[in-house]
Amino acid sequence: MSNTYDVIVIGAGPAGYVAAIRCAQLGMHTAVVDDFVFKDGEPALGGTCLNVGCIPSKALLDSSEQYHKVAHTLAAHGIKTKGVELDVKAMIARKDQVVKDLTGGIRQLFKANHVEWLHGHGKLVGQGAVEVRGADGETRRIEGGAVILAPGSRSVDIGAAPLDHERIVNSDGALEFTEVPKRLGIIGAGVIGLEMGSVWSRLGSKVVLLEAQDELLAPVDRQVVRVAQKEFKNQGLDIRLGCRVTGTKVGKQVSVHYEDKEGKQNLQVDRLIVCVGRRPNTEDLFVDDVGLILDERGFVHVDEQCRTNLPNVYAVGDVVRGPMLAHKGQEEGMMVAEIIAGQYGHVNYDTIPWVIYTHPEIAWVGRTEQQLKAANVPYHTGVFNFAATGRARAMDESAGLVKLIAHAETDQLLGAHIIGPQASELIAEAVVTMEFGGAAEDLARTVHAHPTLSEAVHEAALAVGKRAIHKAN
Ligand code: FAD
Ligand code: NAD
Repeated sequence: MSNTYDVIVIGAGPAGYVAAIRCAQLGMHTAVVDDFVFKDGEPALGGTCLNVGCIPSKALLDSSEQYHKVAHTLAAHGIKTKGVELDVKAMIARKDQVVKDLTGGIRQLFKANHVEWLHGHGKLVGQGAVEVRGADGETRRIEGGAVILAPGSRSVDIGAAPLDHERIVNSDGALEFTEVPKRLGIIGAGVIGLEMGSVWSRLGSKVVLLEAQDELLAPVDRQVVRVAQKEFKNQGLDIRLGCRVTGTKVGKQVSVHYEDKEGKQNLQVDRLIVCVGRRPNTEDLFVDDVGLILDERGFVHVDEQCRTNLPNVYAVGDVVRGPMLAHKGQEEGMMVAEIIAGQYGHVNYDTIPWVIYTHPEIAWVGRTEQQLKAANVPYHTGVFNFAATGRARAMDESAGLVKLIAHAETDQLLGAHIIGPQASELIAEAVVTMEFGGAAEDLARTVHAHPTLSEAVHEAALAVGKRAIHKAN
């Protein structure tokens, strides 16, 4: 075991493990310090994303969607089902296995690339110096030519609803219910609230979401949100806006006190999920003497290329500004590895796609119509409903639309907003077009297979020039 490395990475989530693999590919002797322990007590790589974030939530979203389809929607296809049963424990066990397989995969990749994994807590203690504290409390000092900080983020707690990890939980706990709560309360109707609310609602919970803001999903294009609100309502998600939670009382059930514009309210639920955002993990990450600068919101301060104020110390992923998304962290990890190796690295922050994995899925990239209007940028929009595509109809998935926004003078694609089937996959076409500086016309003149969902993207591009074929322009 060595004590000196070319690069030391703190954190093995998507930002850190990708940075480490790329460093190793570029010939650098690399160590990763990570302190995550899976619920079975085993140290695991992959961070929040693989263990308690993206992957387990998508596994449950998929299982719950399969259940909901079999129990409620197959009849429309002429398939009769009887005696459909739910085994929540088996569903959770499958989710855990998916996680184990994938985190084991990162372990294999580390081995194959000769990345050294040091299980323990890492702390920057000096120029290129990291102290690693093992589970037994033993510490060891290692030195690196460069250090990459990738410690990720954790859930924000609120005083009005302290977690007891039984009745009141955060997103970690929401992935572990072993039975379906009859009544489920959720504080925060953001990305996690809507995804976890969808999971448990499909499995039979009566779900109420209490959202502080007066509008749902404030960063999302309003036309898309209007469709989402209608669909979520039809699914039975009770989303209450403009709510201020003032307190909770836990007994056999949870009593949630909140205020809205009508006054004081009370909600009784069996379980309550608190998901009001995440904050960067900077506690115990560095000794004060090293002089690492945090920004005014507590994130590690970095420039466009993820350099901190300290020489040869970089920071990537959720601990720095920008969206808290796994793919954003991965790209930053690759960029930094290439810069350390003396190459050119870059992340285009204007083309980072977002996806919310509800049903229908919501995906977007670039600017919304509201942002362009506020910035006085002249634009044209092209909108096409999935209901007018043969494939969506055949799938019985006709809710939703594709909306493309292009510059009024240059036709350059400025934003794409999709709500509908496979929106998570369809958005990639718009991302690539925008990355290449392409125009709506480029998409309009590109052949799309028939019958596919991507025809909705093609028709939306045609609609920007008022020449969609399967709708009146
Ligand atoms: P993390 O994944 O948080 O990893 C950081 C790692 O560093 C952890 O293992 C942590 O234990 C370790 N660590 C922290 N401090 C130290 C230290 N001092 N020493 C040693 N180790 C340390 N994003 C998406 O793009 N798509 C999704 O579908 C998605 N779904 C999500 C669902 C949920 C429920 C949640 C909670 C998040 C989801 N996210 C999703 C967000 C995504 O998980 C994060 O953006 C991503 O994990 C951030 O990666 P990271 O590498 O910066 O940090
Ligand atoms: P979020 O920022 O998406 O949503 C939090 C919501 O809670 C907001 O709507 C906010 O207005 C509301 N809120 C804040 N304080 C409140 C209060 N006191 N009472 C009621 N509502 C309150 O945060 P999140 O849902 O916790 O997710 C955290 C982050 O994790 C996301 O922003 C995203 O970056 C990442 N994530 C991504 C995905 C994905 O990519 N599909 C999925 C899950 C999480």
